[in-house]
Amino acid sequence: MIVDHHNHVWKGASSGGFLDEPMHVERILAEMDMARIDVAGICSVAQDIDNDYVMRAQKAHPDRLFGYCFVNPRDKGARDELRRYLDMGMKGLKLHPRLHGYQLADHSLVDPLLELCDEYKVPLFSHGGSEENDIPFYFEEVARSAPNVKVILGHMCALNLSDDAILVAKRNPNIYLDTSTAELFSVKAAIKGIGADRILMSTDWPGNDFRMELLKIEIASGGDKSVFRRIAGENYLKIM
Ligand SMILES: [Zn+2]
Repeated sequence: MIVDHHNHVWKGASSGGFLDEPMHVERILAEMDMARIDVAGICSVAQDIDNDYVMRAQKAHPDRLFGYCFVNPRDKGARDELRRYLDMGMKGLKLHPRLHGYQLADHSLVDPLLELCDEYKVPLFSHGGSEENDIPFYFEEVARSAPNVKVILGHMCALNLSDDAILVAKRNPNIYLDTSTAELFSVKAAIKGIGADRILMSTDWPGNDFRMELLKIEIASGGDKSVFRRIAGENYLKIM
């Protein structure tokens, strides 16, 4: 089974930006079919959080889509919001420290959410790679304060910090690397550095195309079908 855990959907807006063009559920499903992606993880975007839309998509297509609850920890109701959606069946927490203006290693903001991830046994997945907000060592700080929570390091902190991402994944068994945006070279280095069991294929659709990401993982696997299968699905099924 092919699982691509990190993608976005939105209803469309009239903000004069990239959100104007709707990225509906039907649209992602069509592209998944074209690329033969069985299951995709989805969330809204940090610029326009809409957990209801994601929840409805998961409910309508439970065999194809699962949702991450997006919250801004600086919002007073963030913890309640997360609990509400986890109670409804969402599968994880999504954060974007850069766009929401905080540091991932800020315990006062992130720990209350991390506790809920531990309680509900769901992963914490964050954007990664911005020097002031979500560097690999902040992920390590989070991973060490909640060793039972699986911490997914977005984009392998590409482009400049992927080596550090591999380093912290090497010494923290609860850190997982998300391949979107990461260079082929970095994905190969990750497989060499930590093995194939904690690397998760992710396209970050519609930012990238499912077929490109699949090809990247196939090439990075170097013909080893077991490595490909784990990165492109089995690892995530284990997390779920
Ligand atoms: Zn994304």
